[in-house]
Amino acid sequence: MTVIDLVEPGELRRQARTDAFEEGTEDARAGRVTMLASGPTSVIALVGGVRAETVEMSSTAAGLSWTCTCMEGKGIMFCRHAVAVAADAWLRFPSR
Ligand SMILES: [Zn+2]
Repeated sequence: MTVIDLVEPGELRRQARTDAFEEGTEDARAGRVTMLASGPTSVIALVGGVRAETVEMSSTAAGLSWTCTCMEGKGIMFCRHAVAVAADAWLRFPSR
């Protein structure tokens, strides 16, 4: 499974609070995501303007593993930055 497969829109919407989902997708549309490294099974990206957060996502045997440097980055629900990285990936690969 690739990272993008694991963060398809419906799944992400279920795993993020509504405000985080909306803010994160807006961050992606506004171009506030900078991919530092991206491959099929792992992604590292910077998200944000004044204060950027670093998000790392990887596909593991147990599913998606992710971390973010923000306050909510160790939570169960996706933070807006994790949503932004996933949304940015969909925008880059619209055929998926
Ligand atoms: Zn975050």
